[in-house]
Amino acid sequence: MIKTNFSIAVMPGDGIGPEVIHATLEVLQPLCSRFDITFDYRNYDFGAAFYRRTGRTISVAEMDEIGRYDAVLFGAMGLPDVRKPDGTEVGPQVDMRAHFGLFASLRPARLYPGVPTRVKADAIDMLVIRETTEGMFAGINDVVQPSDESMSDRMTITRSNSVRLFELAFRQARQRKARGTPGHVTLLHKSNALRSQVLLERVFDEVAARHRDIGSAKFYIDAGAMYFVTNPERYDVVVAENIFGDIVSEVGAGVVGGLGVAPSGDVSESRGVFQPSHGSAPDIAGQGLANPIATMLSAAMMLEWLASQHQQAQCVSAARALEAAVTKVLREGPRPRDLGGSANTAEVTRAVIAALPT
Ligand code: NAD
Repeated sequence: MIKTNFSIAVMPGDGIGPEVIHATLEVLQPLCSRFDITFDYRNYDFGAAFYRRTGRTISVAEMDEIGRYDAVLFGAMGLPDVRKPDGTEVGPQVDMRAHFGLFASLRPARLYPGVPTRVKADAIDMLVIRETTEGMFAGINDVVQPSDESMSDRMTITRSNSVRLFELAFRQARQRKARGTPGHVTLLHKSNALRSQVLLERVFDEVAARHRDIGSAKFYIDAGAMYFVTNPERYDVVVAENIFGDIVSEVGAGVVGGLGVAPSGDVSESRGVFQPSHGSAPDIAGQGLANPIATMLSAAMMLEWLASQHQQAQCVSAARALEAAVTKVLREGPRPRDLGGSANTAEVTRAVIAALPT
């Protein structure tokens, strides 16, 4: 029997997180009813404000509970003035990545018609895949002696994780190709200088050889980062270790209009957490000005992912319909302020709902 009923854990978080989540749930309601999909939501109130109120962050038992949902829809978490005793910010999303083994962050960067860009390009449509469990963040929980004179971090690459990362990248390229992209994966790396990256490149070559129907290329991260600005149209799927991927995905967002249109999904083979790439934007929180489109596009990614997990066609149709509605609003307006318009969150949300198929 085809699954049409999904349980979704919703984590609105801090700042504009609850605003963009509210807007997205408003859009999902008519969308799901149009495509005969049922989402059963449960809200989880974690984040920096929760930590300030209660002194605690998400527990292992709570993450286990959240892991039993079909997917997680996440707003944004963190407030710059709310810090743990070690001086770092409260970020349950980082704990969840580790707990659920979410090894890849999928970060599409697509230039929608009507959205202004500062680069010379007509047709940017790429998916940046950032590895999220090792690379330059591998030593994040290492026990170290604090020092004012010298501190180190560690870059570690493992074969097993790289294989599953690249297999995912080639699978994504094949799925995208079915929708009209070239079917190509580029590795950005630094094997000219770093030993860990020599292994990464070797594993990439091995996996690429198993996927001859998909093209592949490799650039050093420095030149590859420049191409994001000088020739972003050359990229289809781009894959990189943790910190390189973090940085270039944000450059990708920048060239297609900024964080307001940058969705993401952190995934493993069986779990998915979908969220806008932006943070809690405390500077505009509570004013109803946030652009909800990145969160709506993240919900479309969640629908696609549920479809692939459950071999389910309705969720694909719903994802396409949501993306089409967002595309229409970006092209015809009303446009939110971060994209040069004057519409507030509620006006953009109403326009997206009006653009959904009836
Ligand atoms: P930010 O993404 O919150 O904001 C950067 C700039 O972009 C701000 O000027 C903001 O107003 C604007 N902006 C962001 N999203 C927008 C939207 N949807 N509509 C309109 N404008 C938008 O980044 P920051 O200011 O560096 O971080 C603020 C807080 O968010 C910090 O506590 C940080 O740790 C946290 N953060 C959380 C996540 C996450 O939850 N995944 C990601 C990044 C930052």
